[in-house]
Amino acid sequence: MQNNPVALVTGANQGIGLQIAKDLASNGFTVLVGSRNLENGERAARGIRAQAHALQLDVTDQASISAAAERIQSEFGRLDVLVNNAAIGHTGRPGTPLEEILKSSRASVASLDEVRAVFETNVFGVIAVTQAMLPLLREAPSARIVNVSSGVGSLTLNADPTYPYRAGYGVLYAASKTALNAVTLSFAIELEGTNIKVNAASPGFTATALNNYAGTETVEQGARNPVRVALGADDPTGTFSGPNGPLPW
Ligand code: NAP
Repeated sequence: MQNNPVALVTGANQGIGLQIAKDLASNGFTVLVGSRNLENGERAARGIRAQAHALQLDVTDQASISAAAERIQSEFGRLDVLVNNAAIGHTGRPGTPLEEILKSSRASVASLDEVRAVFETNVFGVIAVTQAMLPLLREAPSARIVNVSSGVGSLTLNADPTYPYRAGYGVLYAASKTALNAVTLSFAIELEGTNIKVNAASPGFTATALNNYAGTETVEQGARNPVRVALGADDPTGTFSGPNGPLPW
């Protein structure tokens, strides 16, 4: 049984998730570095000097999710923070230019198999992991779920004809983040009045593999808002925020 609070970050072997794991570890958390490939997770955990442990976790695999929940229960005995960070932008080859990804995510041409695969990770994976971790989170004195979302998923922004990025509002990644926002609000409403706060937090446009390193922010900058929300024990539930403050749903 751990005296330190325990945080699980999904998809923490690289990118913003790894930085979130590092920042939570330096804030006194024992961090579980979720990674679908255990070796990659172990390598990442070794790079975090404070308490960090790799945890095999593929968010699209129910057996992997259940095994991870059982391991957290038996080895750590608690879970205080869950950061649902793992996501994919498409199922094409790595390094596909962003412009090409946006083209193939247009509603009129997107492959339904690809839409299903992206939603499987970015939306259904979050529901499955959250459901599996809820019994542990319910036992924590003050628990937080942070769903790593994106301003590109905002229906309010994309419905505004003056929003400069709305041409990129396709049915793959962007729509999956809209659905993730709905899932976030749904959990937040159900858990109102409990010890668990549920919020969506965007890192901002960050240079990672997800966007072929086209992002303008560093991972250190990108991790800042999700970590702020994860640490804000006294902050509200049911919010959607980005690096510059609240975002419209
Ligand atoms: P990234 O570097 O590509 O990291 C994504 C992580 O998710 C990787 O560790 C990846 O694992 C993991 N992952 C993918 N599918 C998984 C699965 N089925 N099970 C478990 N892990 C899985 O991208 P990132 O930019 O850091 O993304 C982190 C989060 O920030 C995502 O939710 C993303 O939507 C969000 N976000 C990013 C930006 C941005 O500009 N970068 C902007 C807004 C929101 P592998 O290494 O095994 O592939």
